[in-house]
Amino acid sequence: MNKRDFLKEAIVFFPAAGVLSALTCEAAGKEPSGSAAPGYDPTDHWYGMGVDVDKCIGCNRCVEACKAENNVPDEPFFFRTWIERYTITSDGETTVECISNKPRSLDQVVPADPNVVRTFFVPKLCNQCAHPPCVQVCPVGATFQTKDGVVLVDEKRCIGCRYCIQACPYGARYLNPNTRTADKCTFCYHRITKGLVPACVEVCPTEARIFGDMKGKADRLVRFERANVVSVLKPDLNTEPKVLYASLDGEVR
Ligand code: SF4
Ligand code: SF4
Repeated sequence: MNKRDFLKEAIVFFPAAGVLSALTCEAAGKEPSGSAAPGYDPTDHWYGMGVDVDKCIGCNRCVEACKAENNVPDEPFFFRTWIERYTITSDGETTVECISNKPRSLDQVVPADPNVVRTFFVPKLCNQCAHPPCVQVCPVGATFQTKDGVVLVDEKRCIGCRYCIQACPYGARYLNPNTRTADKCTFCYHRITKGLVPACVEVCPTEARIFGDMKGKADRLVRFERANVVSVLKPDLNTEPKVLYASLDGEVR
């Protein structure tokens, strides 16, 4: 039995074991290496994303680009980012539907039901929480936060126990069927540490998504925050999401 299998067994039988706490401490504070531009200093940055709901047309190009960039399994159940369509009818009912797992159709944009008074699209992804519950629950320190504020998963340490998947209040994680480890959005960490934007931002035809650095005084994200009334998902949980939404309807959770 290798170390990873041993830990997986140990979690099942002794979830609060001291040996696991010790391993968590050992993993804390590490930084991924090898992908950043020369001289890159993570302490200079604090990354976030802006999403303007009014600009999203539900085309799913971001979802496709993310899947291709990050080798996300092709099946329609696995996403690092996805699009939800909110539909509000004349009786005040709101329905929410993921539209990233089906072929595109005109009906997605113009619902046939005459009772529909409003429909809009909300791009979702990991909120890169400043206080991430997923990090707190990981028993082996496989999920961690970088100094530039991105929550990542160390595939080599992850034992697939799913604690983080249950702890994430935004449904942003899934168990990758190929690696049997937890997977989620990384803000395309391999790109942003080279000065590029995440793949989803690059392809968005309406600039509904923007990416930036909250430590940059004239940064695009800082200007986005100043120019809009921004809100975050589930603010009452005090996770301090770093995905900021403009024009977010109160119905969105
Ligand atoms: Fe963790 Fe979920 Fe927050 Fe992402 S959105 S940092 S997966 S708790
Ligand atoms: Fe919305 Fe842009 Fe994604 Fe298209 S690419 S679904 S407009 S966020």
